[in-house]
Amino acid sequence: MQLSKQQAEQRTDQVYDVLVVGGGPAGLSAGIYLQRYLLSTLIVDKGKARSLWMQEMHNYLGLPPDSSGRDLLKQGKAHYLSLDGDYLNAFVEEATDEGETFALRVRIGRNNPSYVTLRSRYLIAASGIIDNLPTFTDMQNVYDYAGYNLHVCLICDGYEMQGQRVGVFGRNEGSLEVAFSLGWFTSDITLFTGGAFDVSDGFRDRLRTHGYRLEERPLHRFVGENHIMSGVELRDGTLIPLDAGLVSMGSKYHADYLNGIDLEYKGGNLVTDGMNRTSHPRIFAVGDLKVGLNQVIVAAADGALAATQIWRDIRRQEGSRAPAKQSAA
Ligand SMILES: Cc1cc2nc3c(=O)[nH]c(=O)nc-3n(C[C@H](O)[C@H](O)[C@H](O)COP(=O)(O)OP(=O)(O)OC[C@H]3O[C@@H](n4cnc5c(N)ncnc54)[C@H](O)[C@@H]3O)c2cc1C
Repeated sequence: MQLSKQQAEQRTDQVYDVLVVGGGPAGLSAGIYLQRYLLSTLIVDKGKARSLWMQEMHNYLGLPPDSSGRDLLKQGKAHYLSLDGDYLNAFVEEATDEGETFALRVRIGRNNPSYVTLRSRYLIAASGIIDNLPTFTDMQNVYDYAGYNLHVCLICDGYEMQGQRVGVFGRNEGSLEVAFSLGWFTSDITLFTGGAFDVSDGFRDRLRTHGYRLEERPLHRFVGENHIMSGVELRDGTLIPLDAGLVSMGSKYHADYLNGIDLEYKGGNLVTDGMNRTSHPRIFAVGDLKVGLNQVIVAAADGALAATQIWRDIRRQEGSRAPAKQSAA
């Protein structure tokens, strides 16, 4: 059920089989499988998932190509709730390993928040990442286009950029490397530094070889209308027309609540085995937060794998949860 603050406070004596941090595609998929394995589950989600940015998902088997992230999450949450899983809109601040259980300190509400501690035997980290965007004085100008034709994911949207005039926005020379992969789809590429970092002579040579342009003047804003970006205006007033943009400025990893637990990371991503178990035997990681491919179809599969391994673990300990058969009189 969708838990209110009061109902969450009543759950503090209970130990869930699994607590899932994050209600994106990875967490919801895990929740659906867990409930179908008769395991008690709570998903805690703070909202504003990365998946909400997906205006249209063109690469998911079985779904029409205009399916939005918003619809996917709505449908996935309804499916999970129909299986009697618990769901709480809240922010997980801290996870503590108590030995047999995890204690999660959870903040409910933004203004005048209250705190509860909820417990589970297993933990699934499904809290994802969020992309860094170019910082302009008017950030609304960036949000107007991000997720439309200002892309953040080459794997998701390279196909859409075929033959287009594309601007690549980076935060350092390394982040601009994505331009060479984008070159698979289009050769009309301008790389923007915004004047924020230097580019080496070797890199400039490679750009020249590929015929890509480098623009190092400071940026002012995107131009366009109805969420379709049509170019970039530089601070000196120059307008550079574009058909699309690709932002490559790194991400923030939503894993602060795990800071008190010793886990293996690669960069900001959690390292897992083939069933998505982390270096801690009772913590699993799924979706964008773990090492792997940041795609919805992978996140959904990740949830299925983690839930199945947790069921196997618990089944081996408990044997069965089927009610005992009445013996014939
Ligand atoms: C613009 C854009 C377009 C994309 N297009 C595609 C596409 O076409 N096809 C495709 O396959 N993929 C696409 N992706 C990638 C896709 O969105 C991700 O791979 C997918 O969302 C990963 O799912 P997730 O469940 O791991 O993370 P998310 O969807 O980000 O969900 C994680 C959830 O955890 C919550 N959370 C984080 N920290 C906490 C906390 N401490 N407490 C409680 N909750 C927390 C977050 O708020 C969020 O709701 C796109 C991404 C973007 C940004």
